[in-house]
Amino acid sequence: MTTSSKHSASRLAMVGLIIFVIAISCTTDRSKRREPKPRNIVLMLGDGMGVAQIYAGMTANGGHLSLEGCTYVGFQKTYSASSYITDSGASATAMATGRKTHNGAIAVDTSGHRLKTIIEMAEEAGLSTGLVATSTITHATPASFVAHNPDRGKYEEIALDFAGAGLEVIIGGGRNHFSEREDGLDLIAQFRGNGYLVTDRIEGVEPGHQGPIAIFTDSLPMPPVLKGRGDLLPRATEMAIGRLAVNEKGFFLMVEGSQIDWACHDNNTEYLVSEMIDFDVAIGKAIDFARKNRETLVIVTGDHETGALAIENGHMESGEVSGLFGSEGHTGVMIPVFAYGPGAEKFAGIYENTDIFDKMAGLLDLD
Ligand code: MG
Ligand code: ZN
Repeated sequence: MTTSSKHSASRLAMVGLIIFVIAISCTTDRSKRREPKPRNIVLMLGDGMGVAQIYAGMTANGGHLSLEGCTYVGFQKTYSASSYITDSGASATAMATGRKTHNGAIAVDTSGHRLKTIIEMAEEAGLSTGLVATSTITHATPASFVAHNPDRGKYEEIALDFAGAGLEVIIGGGRNHFSEREDGLDLIAQFRGNGYLVTDRIEGVEPGHQGPIAIFTDSLPMPPVLKGRGDLLPRATEMAIGRLAVNEKGFFLMVEGSQIDWACHDNNTEYLVSEMIDFDVAIGKAIDFARKNRETLVIVTGDHETGALAIENGHMESGEVSGLFGSEGHTGVMIPVFAYGPGAEKFAGIYENTDIFDKMAGLLDLD
């Protein structure tokens, strides 16, 4: 072997080593991966929100919604382990834990065993977490992210699970489930003992305040927008994001537009569009943050459709919309999933509601 061929052989070995080192560092260093991953996830759930609910709100809002800022759209199948037609407990459990369960269950499987939720996993990984809802915070959708109960109606037991869950932000109704309890326990005092600021209004939190907060705005559910709730949901969403974003490890926030479902159970189009537009303003707050922050994935979906809503007629300029309801209950249609931000492309396609958990947990490296 000549000297020059020896040199080229060792050069070849060196190049091979360099390629090997680069390959290793690419698979271990998250920031150098080709696929962008979010540091934060905001999951926005419109209870009872299917395509017709969204389109009714879009029409009433003059032809547009902030939701249109999302860049990827998919569809989820919502059936539960016990029924073709899901309830909010089983569907929220699917998205919070990755497992289908029976209707009425809150983050337990069909045998009643506890299922770990994405909020519990995020807390263990050092992320900050929050829940915002326009129902009582102990209601099925938010409850399925932190509580475990085979019966969604056990509000006082569910409230107990909230007290020890370690969330940084809790905003919703349902103060009575924490303070006016049949067992006499004062969970508000327990929250305060755990370092929480507990108040009944957003204004009750001083701008410079640090540390966890629990805002129970109402003794039981919050009023509808039509009866004076104002812009509480968009403000609560903005406040929650601002507080959670101080954690450099990231955050997981679930925001629920709870009363879209109630409006549709009532077959009330005016109630529906007011709640839909309010929820969309909150979606706009999350997308605005994600646009600036660039490490935040916003996912917007529902848990099931409610009311078998058809739209008979409407007018984009005047905002008039005529809804026709075919049911007073939930229906089985596929529900759209919208996404914006790093990882949004994973939400294109048609998949199970449980896949939403798998995608979120994978993107946050919680699996
Ligand atoms: Mg709900
Ligand atoms: Zn419902």
